[in-house]
Amino acid sequence: MAEKTTKTMRVLYICTSIQSKDMINIVLFGPPGAGKGTQSERLVNRYNLVHLSTGDIFRKNIKEATALGTLAKSFMDAGNLVPDEVTINMLKSELEAFPEAKGFIFDGFPRTSPQALALDEMLSEKEQSISCMLALEVEETELEKRLLGRAETSGRADDGDISIVRNRIEVYKRETAPVAEYYKGQNKFFAIDGIGELDEISNRLFSAIDTLA
Ligand code: ADP
Repeated sequence: MAEKTTKTMRVLYICTSIQSKDMINIVLFGPPGAGKGTQSERLVNRYNLVHLSTGDIFRKNIKEATALGTLAKSFMDAGNLVPDEVTINMLKSELEAFPEAKGFIFDGFPRTSPQALALDEMLSEKEQSISCMLALEVEETELEKRLLGRAETSGRADDGDISIVRNRIEVYKRETAPVAEYYKGQNKFFAIDGIGELDEISNRLFSAIDTLA
């Protein structure tokens, strides 16, 4: 009985602390081709969040021929990362554009350790924090297959060329994968199997998020 009461109190405490913050901020993580974009859409609909995809924002800027787009293009076309300072400033202004958001899905950000630190700083200025990192895990040969297949519909220059695809995966392993350690250190890391039917993968993500509240 005493144990049950303690457990109930703990659950109540967790719910209250999440409610008082009133936001869910999710980092959707994983290598190129892991399915972050596809699954983000489903999370946005279910949890009423704002989707911030740094790749999408860069591509929009390239299409509109802005100065930011011109700067980002050469890095993206080669499958390299856009410099931290540029990316962090861009994300900061995107965050500020949604003052009423109930929470965010960060898709493709943070991709380096300085970006992870900057994100924590930006959120703490708003008395917010990251709720969890959900990391979609997919093996390398499957990633290559998915990206080359996606090139047919995405029309993305960085999807259609095997050497650029391989460079993106290498950049991920070298610069981005270590970011997971940062969230593991905060007990916010969830590994999610990214292989299977889309609905199955979404359900794995929903279950992980639902354990938070
Ligand atoms: P994917 O996850 O399939 O690689 P994205 O759309 O997330 O696709 O990213 C495409 C490209 O945009 C990256 O290869 C990189 O050049 C650039 N980019 C996106 N997000 C970041 C980031 N957080 N930091 C640096 N560059 C980024």
